Amino acid sequence: MEMMKAAVMTEVKKIEMQQREKPQPKADEVQVKVEYVGVCGSDVHYFEFGRVGNFVVEKPIVLGHECGGTITAVGSDVKKLKVGDHVALEPGVPCGKCEFCLSGRYNLCPDVRFMATPPYDGAFQEYVVHPEALSFKLPDNMSTMAGALIEPLSVGFHAAKQSGAAVGQSAVVLGAGCIGLVTMMALRSMGVKKVIVVDLLPKRLEKAKELGAAAVVNSGETDAVKAVMDLTDGAGADLVFETAGSPVTSMMTSYLVKRGGTITLVGMTPKPEFNYNFGNIMDKEATIKSVFRYCNLYPTAINAVASGDIPIEKIVSDTFSFDEVQKAMQYNIDNKADVTKIVLDFTK
Ligand SMILES: [Zn+2]
Ligand SMILES: [Zn+2]
Repeated sequence: MEMMKAAVMTEVKKIEMQQREKPQPKADEVQVKVEYVGVCGSDVHYFEFGRVGNFVVEKPIVLGHECGGTITAVGSDVKKLKVGDHVALEPGVPCGKCEFCLSGRYNLCPDVRFMATPPYDGAFQEYVVHPEALSFKLPDNMSTMAGALIEPLSVGFHAAKQSGAAVGQSAVVLGAGCIGLVTMMALRSMGVKKVIVVDLLPKRLEKAKELGAAAVVNSGETDAVKAVMDLTDGAGADLVFETAGSPVTSMMTSYLVKRGGTITLVGMTPKPEFNYNFGNIMDKEATIKSVFRYCNLYPTAINAVASGDIPIEKIVSDTFSFDEVQKAMQYNIDNKADVTKIVLDFTK
């Protein structure tokens, strides 16, 4: 029996290296040697608290769902992919049969098997097997690190698409963490160049500027609503995105949106019930949209990166080797203000 190393979270804040059987691909699956895995906010949350919302870790779990690597074996029915191909893995495997799957909104499938969401294991292990249909070949000019980052970037594209973003519009992105930054980059690649980014942390705002924000607002220093009004000639923004997952910024959205504009909720608020000014929404005939993961967007995100439109690797603030996974998770908890994205590098 062939064995491999897997990083198993055995209890809260404890990840242990274990030997596990190397997974072998079924007929429609590929076997992938994992090269880079991004650490997601949800991974850190499972590590720190043992749960995310209604998902509770009840038995040991392998975290990680933002994964790029190289194919090392293919099942007998695999047609397009071959050994040696570089791939990005879309981590949610939907049932393919329910009304949501059949209507193309498979991110809403109630029976999805999503990597690193209890009870399913994720990609903090040397090899994974995955359906060919959800393994996307990367062009030669793209690294498997960029491949791993296609997952968060797809969230950004889904947010931009949900909002109905169109060339020439203005946007405000609340929060300049990983998801705020990928939302901004997706918007820019879709022709929304006037993106105002709001955050409390100067370091994040600097990053947003570097990646193309038209203006940044430090909401700890200035009144963010007033600043956005000044930057939009008193009109507000066509599109407003809440990515910080905070009631304070969520409440701001109705004041920031332009008449007839669209608010898109992307961040998960730990305290999901709060006061909200729906009067503003009605006065302005504004629309509120929301985002749950993404669907049908891996090819879009891969093409946007391959074409040079989106320098996705620039969101990475820190890398750790696979063996340092415990340290990487703890570092993320201890340095939340400085980390935009940690990537585990399995090739080191
Ligand atoms: Zn993620
Ligand atoms: Zn389904």
